[in-house]
Amino acid sequence: MVTYNKEQIKNLQELDKKHYLHPTSSLKQHQENGPKRIFTEGKGIYLTDVNGDQYIDALASLWNVNIGHGRKELGEAASQQMGKLAYSSSFNNLSHETVIQLSEKLASLTPGDLNVFFFTSGGSESNDTAFKLVRHYWKMKGQPEKKKIIGLERAYHGITMGATSATGIQQFQNMTTSLAPDFLHAAAHKTNCEWGDKNDSDYSRSIRGIIENEGPETIAAVIVEPIQGAGGVIIPPDGYLEAVRDLCDQYGILMIADEVICGFGRTGRMFGVDNWNVVPDIMCMAKGITSGYIPLGAVAITERLRDNLAEVSDDVLFHGFTYSGHPTSCAVALKNIEIIEKENLAAHASKMEMELIKGFKYLTEKHSSVTKSRAKGLLGAFELFEDREQGIPFGPEKMAAQKLVEECLSQKLIVRSVTFGGTNIIALSPPLIITKEEIEKMIMIFSDAIQTVEKSLRLQSV
Ligand code: PMP
Repeated sequence: MVTYNKEQIKNLQELDKKHYLHPTSSLKQHQENGPKRIFTEGKGIYLTDVNGDQYIDALASLWNVNIGHGRKELGEAASQQMGKLAYSSSFNNLSHETVIQLSEKLASLTPGDLNVFFFTSGGSESNDTAFKLVRHYWKMKGQPEKKKIIGLERAYHGITMGATSATGIQQFQNMTTSLAPDFLHAAAHKTNCEWGDKNDSDYSRSIRGIIENEGPETIAAVIVEPIQGAGGVIIPPDGYLEAVRDLCDQYGILMIADEVICGFGRTGRMFGVDNWNVVPDIMCMAKGITSGYIPLGAVAITERLRDNLAEVSDDVLFHGFTYSGHPTSCAVALKNIEIIEKENLAAHASKMEMELIKGFKYLTEKHSSVTKSRAKGLLGAFELFEDREQGIPFGPEKMAAQKLVEECLSQKLIVRSVTFGGTNIIALSPPLIITKEEIEKMIMIFSDAIQTVEKSLRLQSV
């Protein structure tokens, strides 16, 4: 392990403050305090910082390091590919072996006839690609007015202009003054409404209500995360995704599943939609496709969609990133998927779900503020309430979730809070290689941290 002396650490902190504009961070806090931690190494579920302190990375960094840190095989795969063919474009019908192999591999994993792949550098680009593809599709089919896209409230789809516009978390939209047109938002998980229950008071806010109000001839697609991640790990009730699939079929609307978090084993199945046996028309992926070792995203479309497009148009598809199908990213993805399959990580995540639930039960019994825990595979969350029996949440001024995240960090556990709309959600999605013992260790740290925060909020443990 490389060690850093005080002066080196101070220097790094000062340079970070001076030159690095951090994504999704408080600029004021950064200018006042500099970076919270500077990490140097990773191994398994652990990250090590410049002080040599080890942290449990209970969010798999950004829900993406599925196979865990420090897997040398991925570096070797990248190095071999770079030595052989560092870059080659796929524009103008050119190709290379590694992107062909990855496309074939992905086709063997994705459900239904989602067998055709477009490549990007991440989740936002994948979603923007999906939005452009569905509009292109309807235009080519002679229905250019079919262009509106319905997303869900509390959905997160990324930060490019289209993805921000589809996102249903206000803070991301408020950051800018104008958004892309023709994006609408429906209330999430209104299963009855989606099956057609007009007596439900939320009907007009549901996807079905919005489609009927706007006119299905104006709607190109509906986009849903199988489980909402950044919105606070919100698992839909059984039947919801099936209802959305049915609704889309009924009205001739394309269904896009944003699998950026859920994909590649996170929820105990290879893809989130597999939990409900739903096959969307388009599936967007990123994160777990390379476990974060190198940027890559993908958009799966059905063979039917591709064939339809190829039939109606012999135009060039004017959409492509310089790094679409980057050879090194594809080589790393292939090795990463090989590991996920060889180590049965989706099945392992499904098994570890029970351990996580057991841990949440322990926290709920021990701490009066903990409630509403849930997990699917290794995607989980719990909430903090001032009075869980009466259903009274902590006021936002108490910053309960933020305090717990800070306390966890000081106890060397990295987790995330989701705090909009008066909720105090703690989200976690550890690397899929996490063991039962490591989950138990994580839960004990949580317990200590919750106790400290409850005390500071003048709450007593049960
Ligand atoms: N979709 C979902 C569901 C996500 O969680 C994210 C990232 N957290 C994105 C899209 C955007 O991906 P990226 O940050 O790679 O652009």
